[in-house]
Amino acid sequence: MGKSLTEESVAPVRDAIGGTVYLRGDEGLAAEVACFNPAIRHDPEVVVAVASEADVAEALRFARENGLGVRIQATGHGSETPITDGLIISTRALDSLEIDPDARLARIGAGVRWAPVIAAAAEFGLAPITGSSTSVGAVGYTLGGGLGPLARSHGFTADWVRGFRVVTADGELVTADDTTNPELFWALRGGKGGLGVVTEMTLELVPLRTLYAGSVFFEGDAVEPAFQAWIDWSAALPDEATTSAVFLQIPDMEGPPPPLRGRFVFSVRFAYPGAAAEGERLFAPVRAAAPVYLDFVGEMPATAVATIHNDPEQGAPSWIRGLMLDSFDQQAGDALFDLIKPGSDSPFLAVEIRQLGGATTRDTADGTAVGGRDSTHTLSTLAADPGTFAELAPARAAQIAEVVSDRISTVTNVNWSAGLADKAAFEKTWPPAVFDRLARVRSDWDPQGVFPFEPR
Ligand SMILES: Cc1cc2nc3c(=O)[nH]c(=O)nc-3n(C[C@H](O)[C@H](O)[C@H](O)COP(=O)(O)OP(=O)(O)OC[C@H]3O[C@@H](n4cnc5c(N)ncnc54)[C@H](O)[C@@H]3O)c2cc1C
Repeated sequence: MGKSLTEESVAPVRDAIGGTVYLRGDEGLAAEVACFNPAIRHDPEVVVAVASEADVAEALRFARENGLGVRIQATGHGSETPITDGLIISTRALDSLEIDPDARLARIGAGVRWAPVIAAAAEFGLAPITGSSTSVGAVGYTLGGGLGPLARSHGFTADWVRGFRVVTADGELVTADDTTNPELFWALRGGKGGLGVVTEMTLELVPLRTLYAGSVFFEGDAVEPAFQAWIDWSAALPDEATTSAVFLQIPDMEGPPPPLRGRFVFSVRFAYPGAAAEGERLFAPVRAAAPVYLDFVGEMPATAVATIHNDPEQGAPSWIRGLMLDSFDQQAGDALFDLIKPGSDSPFLAVEIRQLGGATTRDTADGTAVGGRDSTHTLSTLAADPGTFAELAPARAAQIAEVVSDRISTVTNVNWSAGLADKAAFEKTWPPAVFDRLARVRSDWDPQGVFPFEPR
């Protein structure tokens, strides 16, 4: 337990840094650490909005002197539970971004979201391997592994990291790459937290100007046959193509695109980073499966990657559970559909299945701490009506987990698990040997436990 903080006690750190210090109760604190999910509100004892690596070191010195646990936040997309103690380092202002087109590398500051990286890389015909939403923070996403719309062709984003700059618990600035501090480098690629404050990540970019990609929508009687066709079609899809499928129960209200309002639809997403004609050929069976309601699949610039999933830019209160699976077939599909089809009283706005495989199953030559390489699919449920968060959504998610229980992966991925909200889930977030090795790296680099990273 830390000492209680006063204006006087924070004065030295205020004077020492270029960024801003917010004590609990200060105007601006809530905005600085606002979360994507507005149902979660952080209220720590103090927030340090850092403006430089030196500020990070100062914030850590202050935290050690005052016995404060330190959490790190960039965009707030990853917040699962409110933080009500200790110190949050907010990295939003660490917005440096540099592209080295000859080496095909991006140097990405800790506060940078994917969208600017995509735009800067595209000037040279290059692209980062990103997630579905380009407003997610590049560093926070990648520290967990990172599974996006090109997962099967290009693997986890962590597989493309070439190095990190990290301020460690004792305030030292270190590099972690394949030759310098390689064990820390291993841990930061998938180990997520409890290791240090990453101030910059060096990411290899890929030459990529266009994709054959997008999403199609089915509605009404077409939903069930399209889903059944997707299951068989995706099982035979080559590794170069990535697909996911989502059931959406869209409320009849302002906001969603008018053709989707008040409808239950099934959408197939697709991304093929090769020739458009081949992409079109690969995708043809989906178009032929049932009458297509809306079709947004075609050749697109690689910069339009966020339009494949169309994740919301603005967060709304939500309740999310993610699972990883070892298989998905017609039997699992039938059981799932029964629980979420119209008339089932399903509370979920979205039920999403992403197909993994191909490059997601292959670790890098030097190895990473990424969890979930053996899984074949992710399965996520998202409820958006706060009235369902306490009982109906958890109960229905448990029913869904029950019908796929024999397929649930023993190991999951930290970006996909209830992670820090649940001890059992946390322990399954990495293979046992990786979990133990990560614990050793964390205690080597943070022996005092400055960065709490465990279920709360
Ligand atoms: C709309 C949406 C779409 C998503 N899509 C995908 C997807 O396609 N694939 C996928 O794999 N995940 C996805 N995610 C999950 C996302 O990758 C994680 O929530 C990720 O942690 C978000 O990182 P952030 O920095 O944006 O969030 P934040 O909440 O700011 O940070 C999350 C965590 O990352 C760590 N962290 C962040 N910055 C640093 C740093 N500089 N140093 C050390 N630790 C740091 C901390 O542990 C922090 O608690 C999605 C999430 C949302 C909300």
